[in-house]
Amino acid sequence: MAEKIHLKLAEKKWLKVRKENDPSFHRGIRPVFWIVFALIAFISGFSLFNSINPVGIVSRALIYGFNLAMLWVLALLLFEIFYSRRAWCRYVCPMGLTYGMVGALSPLQITYHLPDCQHEGACRTVCEVPHVLECVKKGRAGDVTVDIGTDCTLCAACVDVCPTSSLRIIYFEEVFISH
Ligand code: SF4
Ligand code: SF4
Repeated sequence: MAEKIHLKLAEKKWLKVRKENDPSFHRGIRPVFWIVFALIAFISGFSLFNSINPVGIVSRALIYGFNLAMLWVLALLLFEIFYSRRAWCRYVCPMGLTYGMVGALSPLQITYHLPDCQHEGACRTVCEVPHVLECVKKGRAGDVTVDIGTDCTLCAACVDVCPTSSLRIIYFEEVFISH
């Protein structure tokens, strides 16, 4: 929702659009949050993350009624709209990192094939986690075939827009879907 509002306001030129690879913070802080949340839970038995997780707060508000915790959700929304796109997911939430670890074992993967790529970046524009597509930038791919990072949500939007089928869905090493 914050993303949509941000883009809408930017379209009306009421604020400056943040680039899709918004560099507001270093992505290395997410594992730090992951460790902090895990340590607090392990030592105290208290899940701090659950208390400040906006998904949990909104869920509880829908069931039990609104409370002051919704002000935290509002603050997060404003922060994401006006300062840092998807800040919670990109820099704080440990769930994405945990899913990423599980996703590393997934038989479904997105892979990038360098030879036909035009490097115009259509895939990065539609991707919600464009840092995983750094390899499509000219000179960045370390090999002719690159597995896309584990933050990829397998939404396949990049596969749909790629004009050269350079991005493909692979299932157990076999091409499953290409554009
Ligand atoms: S499948 Fe979706 S999340 Fe993954 S790289 Fe492509 S657009 Fe990004
Ligand atoms: S959309 Fe396809 S051709 Fe364009 S930069 Fe991405 S991978 Fe390369």
